[in-house]
Amino acid sequence: MISYDFSGQNIVVTGGTRGIGRAIAEAFLAAGGRVVAIYAGNRQAAEAFTDHNRQFADRLTIRQLDVSDYEAVADFYQKLETEIEQLHVLVSNAGIRRDNVVGMMTRDEWQSVLDTNLTSLYAMSKFAVQQMLGHRYGRIIAITSPSGQLGFPGQANYAASKAGQVAFIKSLAREVGRKKITANCVSPGFIDTDFIASLPEEQRKAYRQNIALRRFGTPEEVAACVLFLACEQAAYVTGSTLQVTGGI
Ligand code: NDP
Repeated sequence: MISYDFSGQNIVVTGGTRGIGRAIAEAFLAAGGRVVAIYAGNRQAAEAFTDHNRQFADRLTIRQLDVSDYEAVADFYQKLETEIEQLHVLVSNAGIRRDNVVGMMTRDEWQSVLDTNLTSLYAMSKFAVQQMLGHRYGRIIAITSPSGQLGFPGQANYAASKAGQVAFIKSLAREVGRKKITANCVSPGFIDTDFIASLPEEQRKAYRQNIALRRFGTPEEVAACVLFLACEQAAYVTGSTLQVTGGI
C-alpha cells in the first residue's frame, strides 16, 4: 500500500461502513485521518465496522443519515461544524441500484436511484463546499461508475445518475478551483461487494471476460485511488474521472 499522511485531517465518507466506502474509510484511518462514516440503516454492518476498527475509536465517528434527505444533510453539517474545525475531504460514495428495463421501471425505482446517487451529491457537496471555502482547501470525490458512460441494459436510472455525477463534479471543479478546492470522480469497474453479489454467476462470468485483467477489483484497490485524489499533492488534478476498472 502506498503510504499517505492524513493526520489532522477530517474526512467524511458516505456509505462508509460497508463495501467500497468501508475500505475507503479504513484506508483514511490507517493513514492517520479522522473519519466520519455515514450509513443508511444497516446497523449490523455499522457495528461490525466499528468493532473491527476499535483501535481507531478516538478518530472514528459513525453517523446514520439518509443522504437523499436534504434537510437531514443540512442538519448533519450544522452539527459537524460545531464538532470539527475544518472539513478537508468529502467522499460521496453511498449509492444504490434498482435495475429494471425502462418499459417496466417504476417511478420509485427511477426516483430512489436518482435521489440516493445524484441528488445526495448536490446536498453533500453544497454544505461541504460552504465549510471548505473559508479555509481555501478541500477535496471532493464522488464514486461514479462506467455504467454512466457505457450504459447497461436495465440500468437507465443508475447510468443516468452516474453520468450526472460526472457532469456535476466537472461543473463544481470550475466553480471552486480558485479557492484551491478540487473535485474529482473515481469510477470503479466491477468490484466484489454486496452491490454485485446478487448478480447471477453466468452474468458475473460474462462480465469478467470483458475485463482486461480478467478479474473483479477489490474495495482496497478503489480506496488507494481515492486517497491519491484526496492527498495534498494531487492539487493539480480536478474535474477528472479516474477509471479503476481493470480495463473494461
Ligand atoms: P454497497 O451496497 O456494498 O454499500 C452501499 C453503502 O451505501 C452502504 O454503506 C449503505 O448504507 C450506503 N447507502 C445506501 N443508500 C444510502 C442512503 N440513502 N444514505 C446513506 N447511505 C446510504 O455498495 P458498494 O460499496 O459496492 O458501492 C459503493 C459505491 O460505488 C456506489 O456509489 C456504487 O454505485 C459505486 N460502484 C460500485 C461498483 C461495484 O462493483 N461494487 C462499481 C461501480 C460503482 P447501509 O450499509 O446502511 O445500507
